[in-house]
Amino acid sequence: MRMITYDKIYDVIVVGAGHAGCEAALAAARMGAEVLLLTISLDTIAQMSCNPAIGGLAKGQLVKEIDALGGEMAKNIDKTGIHFRLLNTKKGPAVRSSRAQADKKLYHVEMKRTIEEQKKLEVKQEVVEDLIVEDGRVKGVITKTCAFLGRTVILTTGTFLKGLIHIGDTSFVGGRLGEPSAENLSDALRRLGFEIGRLKTGTPPRVNAKSIDFKAMTIQYPDDPPRPFSFSTDRVDRPQVPCYLTYTNERTHEIIRRNLKRSARFSGRIKSVGPRYCPSIEDKIVRFPDKERHQIFVEPEGLDTLEIYLNGISTSMPVDVQVEMLRTIPGLERVEIMRPAYAIEYDFAPPTQLKPSLETKLVEGLFFAGQINGTSGYEEAAAQGIIAGINAVLKIRGEEPLILDRSQAYIGVLIDDLVTKGTDEPYRMFTSRAEYRLVLREDNADLRLMEIGRRLGLIDDETYARFSMKKRLIAQEMERLQEIKLYPNPETQQIMKEMGTAPISQPMTLRDLLKRPEVSYRMIERFFPPSQEMPWQVKEQVEIQVKYEGYIRRQEEQIKQFRKMERMIIPPEFDYSKVKGISNEAREKLSRIKPRSIGQASRISGVSPADISILMIALEAWKRRMNRE
Ligand SMILES: Cc1cc2nc3c(=O)[nH]c(=O)nc-3n(C[C@H](O)[C@H](O)[C@H](O)COP(=O)(O)OP(=O)(O)OC[C@H]3O[C@@H](n4cnc5c(N)ncnc54)[C@H](O)[C@@H]3O)c2cc1C
Repeated sequence: MRMITYDKIYDVIVVGAGHAGCEAALAAARMGAEVLLLTISLDTIAQMSCNPAIGGLAKGQLVKEIDALGGEMAKNIDKTGIHFRLLNTKKGPAVRSSRAQADKKLYHVEMKRTIEEQKKLEVKQEVVEDLIVEDGRVKGVITKTCAFLGRTVILTTGTFLKGLIHIGDTSFVGGRLGEPSAENLSDALRRLGFEIGRLKTGTPPRVNAKSIDFKAMTIQYPDDPPRPFSFSTDRVDRPQVPCYLTYTNERTHEIIRRNLKRSARFSGRIKSVGPRYCPSIEDKIVRFPDKERHQIFVEPEGLDTLEIYLNGISTSMPVDVQVEMLRTIPGLERVEIMRPAYAIEYDFAPPTQLKPSLETKLVEGLFFAGQINGTSGYEEAAAQGIIAGINAVLKIRGEEPLILDRSQAYIGVLIDDLVTKGTDEPYRMFTSRAEYRLVLREDNADLRLMEIGRRLGLIDDETYARFSMKKRLIAQEMERLQEIKLYPNPETQQIMKEMGTAPISQPMTLRDLLKRPEVSYRMIERFFPPSQEMPWQVKEQVEIQVKYEGYIRRQEEQIKQFRKMERMIIPPEFDYSKVKGISNEAREKLSRIKPRSIGQASRISGVSPADISILMIALEAWKRRMNRE
């Protein structure tokens, strides 16, 4: 049979319209490239495979960074969120994160519409089976029906590559429950020379709300008012609904223990490694035998459905055991499962095969983003997606790629971890992975990244004008707080008393007063009001910048040191086999990973500080020699 070739050459072809693919395609099209988005089903664009929620600890930071760069995830959850909460409000601002439950169907519908309406972006339902590669450069893709030509290709295939679903002792192929898998693409990658690994993840059952006794559970109210994710959203209009909390108990655990051998995970049916930090309920019972109960968040999947997601009880038990164990849980005594829990194994490409731009080292113009790189989570996927989309366009233009470093963004931490260290289990983001987390807060993601988004053409005039105004107001208010000085007179001491803080003994600026732990910006504003009303985002920023000034300054000093090492670029042609004195392990890993800088080299496991010292000297000598020649 003769293969038909579609009569257009695209700049960027994106394979897969999940969370990575949508961001990649939108970013590339908004930068002016001709983009084709191919996906197995148009009815599952931006489908939430697991939890119908965006954000959470460290993930909220990623979403705000995507937004600051001009991405879509934050805007989409603002349009479709039904339960917003700011997490960790009692802790410091570095670890505060936003999270919102989505109306799952609406999340898909809104993203689909955004994709359909985007200029220069075409979306088609197709299954990609192979890649067209000539002389080490990607030229397009081959689907079940025809060939599409493109200057760059981004693969964002999620859990679909040879997806194998397990429910107890039943296993069948599928990319997600009810959806086909992509059976041929990972073989095509292997033929091209890529290393392919296998990972596993799992999801809990969805149940019918009419079979739940919510009165037996603890109610959890959303924040009022809901705080939007996007820097360009004024307010969230959608009705907000509560979630509920319940717990497993000894009876539940006993049923799980008794049936452990019937779990696909423990019967040996599942061979691959799952997410350590998102374990199945049977994993939790085995790993923490002394724990008397495990919490289950009972979360609605939408406003127009009775489907409920049981967060915390992911399992690969057979359906009869799922029913039996659920019915021991308060509020779930008469529960009816609508969709069973399941585990899935899938192919992924170990991410040390990528450059920090997310382009593969093996095939020029080919990029990977999302779960195919061994990550887990919508936000991690979307973060890689937007970077891959941007870098595909920069590649076509012959410009330098956008590489965010570890001190600029969680996105930088994520990609650096992946390409430098790789991963042999599903990787998810945590605040503890970011060494400069005091400066990588979600509240300042726009201050860190929006200029970059604007330069790339991804931030519109209105958003940029708003951002510039915010920056101006912050600077203005910081200056006012520094200029206004209080003197220890009876009037001031009376105000101190009303504020509930100690009298002052020396002249003091408002800025120094705000540094006192018991003094909030709200108090300063009440007693010493600024000349104009400030948006809450400005007040929050001023308060954080003043209160954490000392810590932030110390972290900025560390960042200066870090950047010095990052600026020591190692050209790709540098030959590690000629460096005398480094360990064999270091030589092997440096040659394989080809770090971009001495900084990145120093983070490769097995490369010691001694290796780095020798490498720096060798690199200097090599550069001098190159200059002479
Ligand atoms: C069962 C299950 C449980 C999960 N549990 C968790 C969890 O507990 N915590 C967590 O954070 N994350 C979890 N996830 C992961 C989360 O869903 C993913 O990390 C996230 O969706 C990845 O985004 P992505 O864009 O990389 O891929 P996906 O969202 O999976 O999207 C991939 C897209 O690519 C398309 N596609 C695939 N192959 C082809 C092809 N050959 N041709 C054309 N189109 C193709 C698919 O149709 C799909 O639209 C789970 C996923 C599943 C399936």
